[in-house]
Amino acid sequence: MKVHKSELVISAVSPKQYPEGGLPEIALAGRSNVGKSSFINSLLARKNLARTSSKPGKTRTLNFYNIEDRFLFVDVPGYGYAKVSKSERAAWGEMMEEYLKSRDVLKAAFMIIDFRHEPTKDDIAMYDYLKFHELPVVIIATKADKITKNKRPRHLKRVKETLKLKPEDQTVVFSAETAQGKDEAWRAIEQFI
Ligand code: GDP
Repeated sequence: MKVHKSELVISAVSPKQYPEGGLPEIALAGRSNVGKSSFINSLLARKNLARTSSKPGKTRTLNFYNIEDRFLFVDVPGYGYAKVSKSERAAWGEMMEEYLKSRDVLKAAFMIIDFRHEPTKDDIAMYDYLKFHELPVVIIATKADKITKNKRPRHLKRVKETLKLKPEDQTVVFSAETAQGKDEAWRAIEQFI
């Protein structure tokens, strides 16, 4: 898909703020600093989609981006911060829960992980959480350029085993540096929208 339009529709904290219009949605999850902005920018062929930052201490929101009037990317705040307070964690949980359980137009979640390392405990918890809500999940294993080609199959196997990936879920080995996996990621999106 060639993208000309990608714009923030709303930063929402509660369901009454979610956009209307019925466009299909794809949630984007990932630990902070994992490479989510780079993934989005690479897909949209943009230098910098102005992502609203969701750092600890700031109000953490679900950010809905309209892509070509075809679908919405829903940028989910990064998980796995060591530093967040209990109340912040609870607010995050409540916001996610409301979104995941009630949003009919949500078609799939793309979860971005770091291909260099074994998925973390937080990655596993997030995957399980998404599956609990019966969502199709696409794992985007990014920073693949940092792993030599001959080691990639082993890393991919470790990702699948550590997450206990369900057969219906997909993995895309990705690099924002080389654009490896970009077409495959788009194909994965097209199949849900
Ligand atoms: P975010 O916090 O998840 O949005 O992460 P960013 O997209 O800002 O990326 C975090 C850091 O990882 C930055 O220094 C990026 O340049 C780097 N990075 C992201 N994707 C890749 C990739 O595919 N390959 C390499 N080598 N570095 C990447």
